[in-house]
Amino acid sequence: MKTYTHDLNPRAPRSSQQLTARGRKRTKVVATLGPGCDDDNILRAMYHAGMNIARFNMSHGDHETHSLRLEQIRRLNHELDRPVGVLVDLQGPKIRLTRFKGGSAPWPEGHRTIITTEDMGEGDAERIGCTYKELHQDVRAGSTILIDDGRLRLQVISVDGRDVHCEVLVGGEAKSSKGVNLPGVEVSAPSLTDKDKADLTWALSNEADYVALSFVRSAQDIRNLRRRIAESGRSLPIIAKIERPEAVQDMDEIIIAADGIMVARGDLGIEISSERLPAVQKHLIARANAHGKLVITATQMLESMITSPIPTRAETSDVANAIFDGTDAVMLSAETAAGKYPAEAVEEMMRISVAAEDSPYLTITELDPALVSSQRMSHALASAAAHLADNINARAVMVFSHGSEKSLLLSKLRATKARTICMCYDDATWRRVSLFYGTIPLRIDYHDDPSDLLEKGIAEALRQKVVSQGEMVVALMGFASDTASAIKVVRV
Ligand code: PEP
Repeated sequence: MKTYTHDLNPRAPRSSQQLTARGRKRTKVVATLGPGCDDDNILRAMYHAGMNIARFNMSHGDHETHSLRLEQIRRLNHELDRPVGVLVDLQGPKIRLTRFKGGSAPWPEGHRTIITTEDMGEGDAERIGCTYKELHQDVRAGSTILIDDGRLRLQVISVDGRDVHCEVLVGGEAKSSKGVNLPGVEVSAPSLTDKDKADLTWALSNEADYVALSFVRSAQDIRNLRRRIAESGRSLPIIAKIERPEAVQDMDEIIIAADGIMVARGDLGIEISSERLPAVQKHLIARANAHGKLVITATQMLESMITSPIPTRAETSDVANAIFDGTDAVMLSAETAAGKYPAEAVEEMMRISVAAEDSPYLTITELDPALVSSQRMSHALASAAAHLADNINARAVMVFSHGSEKSLLLSKLRATKARTICMCYDDATWRRVSLFYGTIPLRIDYHDDPSDLLEKGIAEALRQKVVSQGEMVVALMGFASDTASAIKVVRV
């Protein structure tokens, strides 16, 4: 373990003037958009504080609102010269109660109620509808039904036609449209609902940078989504949200099929019980890293910051521990979408990340041998560039390449103290790479002549102040044929 000096200066690093997100933070921050951050000035502050990916949560809002936000992000990317990628999060087969008369109904402990899959108008304490039309076929006497993130607990007494008779075990006020979880029940709903298909079309036609699929049950769900994307003639990297027990069981297959995963702790914590969540989270992060795939840790990371300008000690520790374990990105949900302190929450993520990354506790996972052998040339080049950079104390490894495979490998290897700068020849790569841990995407135009390309890249890195005059950098130049690749040492 490296020697570690605790910097106990309370002013370091608190102020965002001393600490700019771009040069320091390696962990990426995904921020969910919503009414809490629609204001241009708030969004600008979030860019400056280190937001890297904007998450569009398709469970809320309509396409018109999402289109306005997307246009805002794309405009600010160019105005602020920073790429924020767009992650479209499909709702998936999320089950919800329908509406109660008056918005809610009392469900005290011991109360008997019916959840029905029949179409009905507004419900009441005695009978309420549900969006999942096969519920009555999937549950049986003894099944547990959790409502509102597990706040209310029901037990199925019997099923009569489309009516599921339940007894309230843990009671409270049942509210309209709250989520329904069925732990231990194999839900037969298709993984892509009609709403998801329409949202996917919106994501594809607006050139989103990532799509996340909710309630993934198997690798086949990912393959089906990938086929549908391919049929549209486009490509869109897929993040599998792990929030079902079946997905935890099948994690390696799912990780291999997807481009990355999200540890979706909200629903996962309900489905597998929250006390099992920390160990499962560690395991998911380790497996994603072994397969060289992206991993985002999500939900309730700075929950108290929805209403408070500072996080709790437990939240700070939670974020730092996810980083120690090797997450690529941490995610904010209601903290930014609907909270009172969206920019402060992003800035807090930045401070925690910088402090955690500076500690000796970062876990480095060995890449799976199958991945190393399938990407042998890129792996050898990325490792060599990383070692060279550390041996000569280089400021950065600059990757010049048409794809982003080498940059992703460098990011996942966590093999160098130097920063990885990914030179991107188009806007889509520039935005997509913004999710890679420790990677700074810079946008330059492609040039056939390698010396011109190198010169342009260095000029852009200087202009963006991610390298300084006199510093050493290692340039990893990849071309269409890997055998034409070159590694160069350059003094800026
Ligand atoms: C989660 O359940 O943790 C999650 C990220 O999904 P959603 O916010 O869509 O419920």
